[in-house]
Amino acid sequence: MRSHLLNGLTAEHYRSSVTEGVERVAAKLATTDRPFTGVTVDALTPRVDAIDLDRPLSDTAAVLDELEDLYLKDAVYFHHPRYLAHLNCPVVIPAVLGEAVLTAVNSSLDTWDQSAGGTLIERKLIDWTTRRIGLGPAADGVFTSGGTQSNLQALLLAREEAKTDSVADLRIFTSEVSHFSVQKSAKLLGLGPDSVVCLPVDHDKRMQTVALAHELERCRRDGLVPMAVVATAGTTDFGSIDPLPEIAELCAQYGVWMHVDAAYGCGLLASLKHRDRIAGIERADSVTVDYHKSFFQPVSSSAVLVRDAATLRHATYHAEYLNPRRMVQERIPNQVDKSLQTTRRFDALKLWMTLRVMGADGVGALFDEVCDLAAEGWKLLAADPRFDVVVEPALSTLVFRYIPATVTDPAAIDRANLYARKALFASGDAVVAGTKVGGRHYLKFTLLNPETTPADIAAVLDLIAGHAEQYLGESLDRAS
Ligand SMILES: *Cc1c(COP(=O)(O)O)cnc(C)c1O
Repeated sequence: MRSHLLNGLTAEHYRSSVTEGVERVAAKLATTDRPFTGVTVDALTPRVDAIDLDRPLSDTAAVLDELEDLYLKDAVYFHHPRYLAHLNCPVVIPAVLGEAVLTAVNSSLDTWDQSAGGTLIERKLIDWTTRRIGLGPAADGVFTSGGTQSNLQALLLAREEAKTDSVADLRIFTSEVSHFSVQKSAKLLGLGPDSVVCLPVDHDKRMQTVALAHELERCRRDGLVPMAVVATAGTTDFGSIDPLPEIAELCAQYGVWMHVDAAYGCGLLASLKHRDRIAGIERADSVTVDYHKSFFQPVSSSAVLVRDAATLRHATYHAEYLNPRRMVQERIPNQVDKSLQTTRRFDALKLWMTLRVMGADGVGALFDEVCDLAAEGWKLLAADPRFDVVVEPALSTLVFRYIPATVTDPAAIDRANLYARKALFASGDAVVAGTKVGGRHYLKFTLLNPETTPADIAAVLDLIAGHAEQYLGESLDRAS
């Protein structure tokens, strides 16, 4: 069994084993002609259930054959140009290479004595990001597992910075289409059930700042304490960007912590064409970025950035065995002092490899392509009488629904759209997402693949219309 431990004696086994796995995936990528096979839960479950984990196969090739059957064959492939559903990006090769390196070396970024150079690489990328945002000379931050964790940490800092004796008095202001991690964080942070005030959005799904001003004033009048405003730079559902400069003004006026959730919109930090769309982000007290969304990085890769490094002390605890206080005086950089996690992956290496091979402009150009593709798609949809499209995209999301020429019953239109999404998924021809707008069912493209073309969009729209028409035709037949 020792032959399976990665070390100097097994270097050759490591090389051949990983190469074998890489060969399988490469072959898969080269031959995958659909984003999904349409496999059902019922078809796949018995295949996984049948595996006896107490009877290993021993042979790597046999295990890879088995994996082909259980996973690779039917996985949902984000690299396919007709995967248009969620905020998943195709990944760039330098980042995948970084992933292979970081897993094998297996540094843990909590302390210098578990990572050395890894710590410095992460710190440099944090500085790079805060400079791109424009957070100023005292800025800092740390890599996290994802936007959910970044938002939680940012709100923890905001709670600790808020001036109050009673957490029950704290209020967080955010738009009604912000990410649910704001609510989850409030719960984890012990705030009351009414602590998150959800503000209405305008026609473009951006926070209404008039409503924010009104609620901040009311909060003050009621003797409550505004803890944070969470602005979203790229809502998950629409890609809409809240009016950051106006929100920053109000935060300054009321002395409130401004958090910008740019989990999605952070790709604009590298954009060559659309950086101005997130102007105002530089005034934030904290920012969430998900490199695994718009920087084409493998899951997971995210960071929370803060204007004032000193605020990160709210996450600092010392343990004699790990990061004793004296190490701070000795200026030994222990990233655990800034993190909610202890053992932590060296995810930063993926972004490092990406920037060193492609450069920021290379990444930004890819994100610009998908933003421009969304603009094209919006034109297609707006000109197509079969569809109703909401919100001209600020990033790369299109929300729309099929509207039949003859049927007017809203419930039937809802069912037709739900059916079309399901039928498309079952066919594996394309994968799209869905959401609700104004209580009605809509469909959604989240475009993050620069390989997707306007022709792909047009073809998938035809498929959707076909499935919806088929459904309505059949339900009319049933009714008559
Ligand atoms: C995706 C997303 C999150 C959550 O990020 P995870 O990496 O999935 O945890 C938070 N906020 C917004 C706006 C997002 O789009």
